[in-house]
Amino acid sequence: MNREQLRQEKQKECDARIAQLYDYIPRLEELDFAIGQKNVAMIRSGILHKNKIQQDALQMEIEALMKDRHQLLEQYGLDEQIYKPKWDCPICEDRGYLSDGTLCSCYLQERMQNIMAQSGMSAAMQQYRFDNFYLDGFDKPEDIQKKLEWCQQFAHQIVAGTCKDCLFMRGDVGRGKTHLSSAIANVVLSGGKTVIYKRAADLFDMIRQYKYEEGTDRWHEVLEQLIGCDLLVIDDLGAERTTDFVTEQLVLLLEERNYRNKPWIINSNLKLSQIQDTYNTRVSDRIMDRATMILLERKNSYRKELAAQRMKEL
Ligand SMILES: [Zn+2]
Repeated sequence: MNREQLRQEKQKECDARIAQLYDYIPRLEELDFAIGQKNVAMIRSGILHKNKIQQDALQMEIEALMKDRHQLLEQYGLDEQIYKPKWDCPICEDRGYLSDGTLCSCYLQERMQNIMAQSGMSAAMQQYRFDNFYLDGFDKPEDIQKKLEWCQQFAHQIVAGTCKDCLFMRGDVGRGKTHLSSAIANVVLSGGKTVIYKRAADLFDMIRQYKYEEGTDRWHEVLEQLIGCDLLVIDDLGAERTTDFVTEQLVLLLEERNYRNKPWIINSNLKLSQIQDTYNTRVSDRIMDRATMILLERKNSYRKELAAQRMKEL
């Protein structure tokens, strides 16, 4: 249902609620009816007769009736709010825009949530931020601070639309690559930009499915999103089953995004030389063309240490 249909539903709900109240408090219906009648008479008097004395008299009668109604409602612990639908957003009454035509914050929030849902980020990943990145345990602490700052700047440049960089983040499993790339993605998303975040294996499965099963139009739509979104994150590259198809699609994505100056992040536990061996030189060249390399080195798994830290806190 669109917003206007939802509004009408709420209005219907409200009307039904009042009809129910009338059964319960017949006097309320009488008063509402009388107020309605007087209002019609008032409008007619204004348009047809332009009779000021009559209008003033009507105005007084309406006010008296409304006072009665207010008292009656009060007896039942109610007020005039019953005549209003229960809007989710009282600011715009669920229209999504304000009287001056600007978008209401509730609409922007909703659009954001849709983008979040489409981004491919799990609820847990949406909690990964820079300020809860666990700094202890890295081999070079002063180094990791610098890397963190670079990532923050990178994220803000994407939001500002001034980013010329891409990021190749390397480290063994559980070294914090997912946390850091999610933190970047979350900044980009909350800046109102679009993100697609996929594990490499899922990404290539998705491409295969759309390319061969869903029809050309749908495939072009997906391809346009993969190439056109403000940030594409390919997590865990090298963990998928490598085929010619995968290599071909990876080259296509990187070349198109590089050509359009669209940032991407690749997380991998492979070195660039291994990327070259696993895929081909076109892939490693396209990465070298654009990306800043960040190496996350620590003796122990980031994930395990974070879990241990949480246990300690309890
Ligand atoms: Zn609103």
